[in-house]
Amino acid sequence: MMNAQTLSYMNAAFDLICTMLPEREPYINLYDDTIKLLNALPHIAVATDEYTNWVINLLGELGYAMDLSHCSGCGKTTNLNYISPKTARAVCDSCAAPYLAQIYKMPVTLNITLKFLEKICTTQGATVPNSRQLLNIKKN
Ligand SMILES: [Zn+2]
Repeated sequence: MMNAQTLSYMNAAFDLICTMLPEREPYINLYDDTIKLLNALPHIAVATDEYTNWVINLLGELGYAMDLSHCSGCGKTTNLNYISPKTARAVCDSCAAPYLAQIYKMPVTLNITLKFLEKICTTQGATVPNSRQLLNIKKN
């Protein structure tokens, strides 16, 4: 059995699938990720991280894959503590310095994934499902 918090993650995941993905299109990787998420959700200690990872994978399926392997500004692979809201790519401390007010601080959180989901929904003419928006209200 799941508790209310983990059930809310499941509801948000299913609502995002229904809202953001076209019907009858195969998403084999996301299917596997969703099964993994459902198996992990009863374990409360990892539920938030598993859900966040699931959303990151969903963003990738939607063509907005995060690239956290190197800095989008200079290519460095160290001190990657920020993420660009425009490109979803990592940014190192030096390159982020002039943009601290506009750039997201790592780690990737529910708040950050919500901002990317909102951006994608806006381009699709949709809105982020209430179940997903409520996760942020409960968590923050
Ligand atoms: Zn850099």
